[in-house]
Amino acid sequence: MRRDHPIFPQGPTPVGSEGVAVRCPDCGPVAVAAAVTTIFGDVESGAHHLTFLCPGCGRRATQFLPVQMVAPIVLSGAALRALTRPAEADETTDAPPIGEDDVAAFAAGLNQPAWENELLN
Ligand SMILES: [Zn+2]
Repeated sequence: MRRDHPIFPQGPTPVGSEGVAVRCPDCGPVAVAAAVTTIFGDVESGAHHLTFLCPGCGRRATQFLPVQMVAPIVLSGAALRALTRPAEADETTDAPPIGEDDVAAFAAGLNQPAWENELLN
């Protein structure tokens, strides 16, 4: 668990029409405006997390968000972002693995003018 993005098992819940009750790792329960929160939904797993900036300490924190809370909190004003895995991540290739010589050649190529054009070939 990353210290700057703690995840709590208790999920955020809507408060009023535009707020969300969340739990800051330092301040405990706090209320934030839904409009300043972001929900990240993993397309493959269906898991959702809500991130917010704590109004008490300014720390950014993340909490697991039960799926049944996604719609109410989005309707309260939270942004919703879908996390997707690029298709290239699952591609296979018969090419040999990248070695130190390949990395050295690539690094040397970065010193050439317009090196980015080589990536298009
Ligand atoms: Zn806090």
